[in-house]
Amino acid sequence: MSFADLGLSDELLRAVEGAGYSDPTPIQAAAIPSVLMMRDLIGIAQTGTGKTASFVLPMIDILAHGRSRARMPRSLILEPTRELAAQVAENFEKYGVNHKLSMALLIGGVSMGDQVKALEKGVDVLIATPGRLMDLFSRGNILLNGCDLLVIDEADRMLDMGFIPDIEEICTKLPKSRQTLLFSATMPPPIKKLADKFLSNPKTIEV
Ligand code: AMP
Repeated sequence: MSFADLGLSDELLRAVEGAGYSDPTPIQAAAIPSVLMMRDLIGIAQTGTGKTASFVLPMIDILAHGRSRARMPRSLILEPTRELAAQVAENFEKYGVNHKLSMALLIGGVSMGDQVKALEKGVDVLIATPGRLMDLFSRGNILLNGCDLLVIDEADRMLDMGFIPDIEEICTKLPKSRQTLLFSATMPPPIKKLADKFLSNPKTIEV
C-alpha cells in the first residue's frame, strides 16, 4: 500500500514526500481512507505508530475542500498535554504547507490574550487542551457550533488526568452531526463508554 492509494489529494502527497515518508504506517493505511469517507473512528495505537499523520493528513484534505465558514472553527483536536498539543500543531504546519488553513493552539501556561486575538481573526482548526478550551469557551471567546470534525487524542491519558467530564461537556457543545475520531493506546471501560456515547458506528483499527 502506498500513500497514493489512500485517496489523499496531490497537495498532500507532495507534503508527505516533503516530510520524507516513503510508505504509510499500518495505522495510516487503515485510517486515512476511512477518515476521508467521513466515518467515525476508534484508533487503538501508541505514540510512535504515525497516528498523528493518520488524522492530520485527511483532516487537511477535508478542510481544504470543504465549505469555509468565515471565523468559525471547523475542527477541534483535543490533546491531554501542552506538549502533545504543540507537537500536533507542528505536524499540522508541516503537512499543511500547501494549504492556507489557519489554526489556534489553545493551551495553558501562555497568555490568553494572543489566543483570543487568533480566535477573533478566525481559524479553521483548534488544537487544545480541555482546560484552556473550557476557560475560553466559558468566557465567550469561542464558538464551537461549526466544529463538525472532532479528534480526541490519547484518550486513556485524558482519563488518567481527570479530563473525561470536560470532554463530555465539550462534546455536548459541538454539532450532533459530526465526525469523531478517538485515539487511545488502551481501551479501559470509561473510554469504551465515552466512545459508545459520542461516536456513531465507528470503524475500529488496532495496530
Ligand atoms: P506519531 O506516532 O504520530 O507521534 O509519529 C511518530 C513519528 O513518526 C513522527 O516523528 C513522524 O514524523 C514519523 N512518521 C509519521 N508517519 C510516517 C511515515 N509514513 N513514514 C515514516 N515516518 C513517519
